[in-house]
Amino acid sequence: MRKDDCIFCKIIEGKIPSAKVYEDDDVLAFLDISQTTEGHTLVVPKEHYDNFLSTPKEVMHKVMDVAQRIGQAEIMVLGAKGINILSNVNKEAGQSVFHFHVHVIPRYDRKGGFTLEMKENPKAKDLSLPALADEIKKAL
Ligand code: AMP
Ligand code: ZN
Repeated sequence: MRKDDCIFCKIIEGKIPSAKVYEDDDVLAFLDISQTTEGHTLVVPKEHYDNFLSTPKEVMHKVMDVAQRIGQAEIMVLGAKGINILSNVNKEAGQSVFHFHVHVIPRYDRKGGFTLEMKENPKAKDLSLPALADEIKKAL
């Protein structure tokens, strides 16, 4: 299924141009227009799903498989020293295009435009990690 107002569905249908890196029956990968770092690539399923959490497992696996291969290729040919794999879910997490996609962001010695910082929560010492783990476990 495609969604009429979805920019990635339009890219998949060829209505909007993109720099394609990979394509098969189920998955498309193309360069992110922002090029946060050189080679920044988006991997998407051809069927429209809003985000990572609502994508069927077998489709998600195909997308992740392609993301892994693109990461390996970028290390090999672009001289990247590392890769960040990222999928934002919902606007609170920074999702701006609501068609599931995985960012493959090559990292070089130079910084580029990508930063990701995981600071320690000042309240961490007051949290009960076993209780928190149990909460999550209950829903699995
Ligand atoms: P997110 O914010 O995680 O939803 O990521 C959406 C990404 O899509 C952003 O990094 C945008 O730069 C990228 N993007 C938006 N429009 C296009 C486009 N036409 N071609 C390639 N990338 C795009
Ligand atoms: Zn779409």
